[in-house]
Amino acid sequence: LASARTLWELVTRRAALTPGRPVLLQEDRALTFGDLRVRAERVAAGLYGMGVRPGTVVAWQLPTRVETVLLSLALARLGAVQSPLIPYYRDREAGFALRATEAEFFAVPGVWRGHDHTAMARRLGAPGVFEAYGTLPDGDPSVLPPPPAEGTSVRWIYWTSGTTSDPKGVLHTDRSLIAAGSCLAHALRLTPHDVGSMAFPYAHIAGPDYTVMLLLYGFPAVLSERFALPGALAEYRRHGVTVAGGSTAFYSMFLAEQRRRPGERLLPSLRLLAGGGAPRPPELYHAVVRELGVRLTHGYGMTEAPMITMGDPEDTPENLATTEGRPGEGMEIRIVDGEIRLRGEAVCQGYLDPAQTAAAFDADGFLRTGDLGHLTASGHLVLTGRRKDVIIRKGENISAREIEDLLAAHPAVTDAAVIGLPDPERGELLCAVLEHRPGTARPTLAEIVSFLRAAGLSVHKLPERLEVLAELPRDDTLRKVLKYRLRERFSHS
Ligand code: ATP
Ligand code: MG
Repeated sequence: LASARTLWELVTRRAALTPGRPVLLQEDRALTFGDLRVRAERVAAGLYGMGVRPGTVVAWQLPTRVETVLLSLALARLGAVQSPLIPYYRDREAGFALRATEAEFFAVPGVWRGHDHTAMARRLGAPGVFEAYGTLPDGDPSVLPPPPAEGTSVRWIYWTSGTTSDPKGVLHTDRSLIAAGSCLAHALRLTPHDVGSMAFPYAHIAGPDYTVMLLLYGFPAVLSERFALPGALAEYRRHGVTVAGGSTAFYSMFLAEQRRRPGERLLPSLRLLAGGGAPRPPELYHAVVRELGVRLTHGYGMTEAPMITMGDPEDTPENLATTEGRPGEGMEIRIVDGEIRLRGEAVCQGYLDPAQTAAAFDADGFLRTGDLGHLTASGHLVLTGRRKDVIIRKGENISAREIEDLLAAHPAVTDAAVIGLPDPERGELLCAVLEHRPGTARPTLAEIVSFLRAAGLSVHKLPERLEVLAELPRDDTLRKVLKYRLRERFSHS
């Protein structure tokens, strides 16, 4: 199945193989692979009736729901170009994305979590606004033109998280998403007996990646519009979830809950927690494995290449704790001046803005990721930070990441961000911004400096300024720290 040319071909081939097996479980609903194909085709006919044609750009801003998956597959069936937007985007980001993609249609959830998306869409002057939450467009599939014959044209525009600057529009094809999903399923050693959980925003590129895994292996996933612990634990038990995905904040939440319930096994059916996309300190790996009794693998991905490397659940604890695993099949990695560069089928076609595309790819067609790292002798990737996250103080390059990992182990700290702030004498000075653990004493600069010295950090990497916050600013999807906001905030004070 991994050789399917298009996403729709994958849907039809899977539906023919196991039509009666469940694929999407949400609240009291269960859709089978057969239902998925039949219903998505009706939605495609409805969209066709509204004027959506192959190549029409359709933006959607919808939460993780059965309807959203159906709408997305229906657009794939038509060969339209879809631009998924994270439900938390408000006027500024949504307006920017709608204008940049020149979307002709915009699917919204109406009022969702207290925000009126329909009103926002009207305010932004978006054309072709329609609601796709409780109901979906519907029509008779006999009117439909044939599905797309190839999967190598751009049919997906995803947005980066905007951690380093404004979000960038990333161009993907059905083939790049199938390649990524297939590598991921392989790396995680998934089987048809697994039960997954989709608790992240489906508008994130991990959405189709996950759907590809379900289609390839024929197993179901439990969908949640928003992840909340008590409900999620009940769902995990009810459906016997075996693999769950997420990032650091997600594991920390499970750990905190497990610590509140000593002696009880919090996740009895779960065998694997798989995550990535944001830094995960090695201590967290050990705590998860020891206290939750599940395996944990972590990987490296980006909107431009959703699956780059992934830890093999059967690998050694040492490799799983300290590396991001090995490259997926067909992913070529080159390290140039410390920066990771990529080439392979799972890499995007470029950016919406041609100038960004020209700047991003080198002469051999490798994408410059802006991330720093190295490959070990055994071929495992170790990430050391971001190019834009290197602080240059008195001509000395200092990686924020190394200091952050040490700070995260301090008892009064739940998370840390180290940034460089402009300084007339040193070029940049080192500022540590800590997220304070409630109920602990507020740390001082002197104490943090002696803690870092005791941990063996060299003198030129010690921070000279400390800021303590109740919460670090984060993006809404992966909860990644938005350092540019911290730099803005502390540069002038
Ligand atoms: P922008 O490109 O708009 O600044 P972004 O790069 O954060 O935002 P994403 O595409 O969502 O947007 O994130 C990809 C980035 O996340 C990677 O380039 C890398 O810096 C970081 N990342 C991904 N996986 C990991 C990981 N396992 N550990 C640490 N960082 C990671
Ligand atoms: Mg990026």
